[in-house]
Order: sequence, then C-alpha cells, then structure tokens
Amino acid sequence: MNLIDGKATSAAIKAEIAAKVAERTARGLRAPHLAAILVGHDGGSETYVAAKVKACAECGFTSSLIRFESTDQEPLAQETLLAEIERLNNDPEVDGFIVQLPLPRHIDEQAIIAAINPDKDVDGFHPVNVGRASIGLPCFHSATPAGIVELLKRHGIETKGKNVVIVGRSNIVGKPLAAMLMQKGKGADATVTVCHSATENLADYTRRADILVAALGRPHFVTEDMVKDGAVIVDVGTTRVPDASRKSGFRLCGDVDFEHVAPKCSWITPVPGGVGPMTIVSLMQNTLLANERALGE
Ligand code: NAP
Repeated sequence: MNLIDGKATSAAIKAEIAAKVAERTARGLRAPHLAAILVGHDGGSETYVAAKVKACAECGFTSSLIRFESTDQEPLAQETLLAEIERLNNDPEVDGFIVQLPLPRHIDEQAIIAAINPDKDVDGFHPVNVGRASIGLPCFHSATPAGIVELLKRHGIETKGKNVVIVGRSNIVGKPLAAMLMQKGKGADATVTVCHSATENLADYTRRADILVAALGRPHFVTEDMVKDGAVIVDVGTTRVPDASRKSGFRLCGDVDFEHVAPKCSWITPVPGGVGPMTIVSLMQNTLLANERALGE
C-alpha cells in the first residue's frame, strides 16, 4: 500500500505558484487577489476560510476577508449579500472571490452563486463554469474534484480506461469529478459510475472499482469487503467526530475504514492530509488563472 500524500503535494504546488507569482510581480504585474465572503460564525467555515487566507499568504497573493453577521434575531438580508457580490464583480483589483458555503438557510444559495461573475467564480460553482466543465471547455473547475485529479496525476496513477466509482453525487464533489474524469484526454478517459443513496447493491459497484472515490460524509462507511484487491482509494469524507483527547474537541474522520481497507489497496489517501489540502491549492490555482486572464496574459 502506498499513501497518496496530499499534504506534501499541496506544499509543492504552493511553492510552484509562489515562484510564478514572484516572477510576475518582479515584472511589475499585480499579485493575484482573492476575496472571501464569510457570513456568520460556523465553526467549519471559519476554519476553512482561515486556511484559505493562510494559503494566499504562502502563495504571495493578496487576500480580503469580508465578514457579515447573521443571527436568528438579525438575519443578513440577501440583498446586502448580493450588493457586495456586485461590488466585487466590478472591483478591478479583485481577480476572484468566493462566498463560503453553507449560507444561513434563509438565503437562496443558488441565487447567490448565479450572481457571481463567472470570470471571478474561482470556486467553479457558477452554472457557466459547471456547464463549460461538463463539455470539456476551459473554465474554473470545482476545487475538490480538481484537487483529486491533480493528486492522481502527480502520483502517476493512470485513469485512462479505468473503472472509477464515485460514491456521492453532490454538486461540489461527485458530479463535477465525474464530468472531469469522463472527458477525453490526459488525466481523464475513465469509465465513470456515480452511486448515491438510491443505488441498490452498492458494494457490487464499489468492488468493481479500479479507483474508488468515497464522498458521502459517512465515517468509515467503506469497509474492506467493498473494495477489490489493488484498488486506488480516494477518501473525500471529513466528518467532525467528537474526540475529548483533542484540544478542539473533535477529529476529522474519513468515509473509509482506513485501518482495514489500506492493506488491500495499491494507493490510498489519508484523512486528514489527503484530499483536504489539495482543495485549497486548487482554489489558489484558479485565482492565479483569474489574475493571468484579468491582466491579459
Ligand atoms: P453531500 O452534499 O452531503 O452529498 C453526499 C452524497 O452522498 C449524496 O449524493 C448522497 O446521496 C450520498 N450518500 C449519502 N449516504 C449514502 C449512502 N448510504 N450510500 C450511498 N450514497 C450515499 O456531501 P458533499 O458536500 O459532497 O461532501 C461529502 C463529504 O466530503 C463530507 O464529509 C464533506 O465534509 C467532505 N468534503 C471534503 C472536502 C475536502 O476538501 N476534503 C470538500 C468537500 C466535501 P443522495 O444524493 O441520494 O442524497
């Protein structure tokens, strides 16, 4: 069994991005600028946004964190959020921006995503980018799937002609990953099956996978009997489970029973340290791309 090391891979890519940015700023070009909108104080969102701001600094980017309060007593008006999106759409100094999800339930998430200029949609969630990705046109790819594809490439894991089974069909992981891996070309050309909660006899599919991607958010769901010998396992799951021994009071748990599944695999991602760090790096790659496009390079 070999470990797919997302931490080391993401560090290497961040160093490559930082070198590129240093070379560009030395030529007098403006550094990439990522803005993030954070509504409320969800614990997970605070952590993710802080990690994104830190990654910006590591890559030599400028970052802006824009906070809005929202409580049950004083909910943020959707119009206020839309007005801020419009401001960022028109700010020539901002190359790309994200609205950290999830949003409070009273806000229409799809309306917010649709309001983002697709040219600044570095999360790759806007229907224009989703559509372009599905027909193989240049676009901002959704960060987690892009990170998975990059991880496989950088570890020399062939996808051409392989049976890839993805468990989970969310708009941010399962569906866009399926779209990417089924394209023609390098790092794709896979035969993709997408499973979900209505799939019958799920293990019949997972046992046929050369590459199995678990993205369902159920800790230790994938057990050794669901995996064929020599398979590649990509564990996207990051569920917070209570852990009194940790300062935070929780630990991140993957969707795969790593201890028992790992001995059967050729490659496997750990949780944490697998897909997670790659997601942030993909956002950095998209922001650099947005900056290059904005500056006409
Ligand atoms: P999501 O929106 O909750 O979707 C979960 C998917 O799994 C759904 O398609 C659901 O099917 C399917 N599913 C649930 N239970 C199932 C079962 N028993 N059998 C088969 N399919 C089942 O999740 P998500 O946003 O894609 O996230 C999935 C996990 O990845 C979570 O743990 C999340 O925290 C993690 N994640 C990690 C990263 C990272 O950077 N590491 C990024 C994104 C997400 P239905 O569609 O039928 O309901």
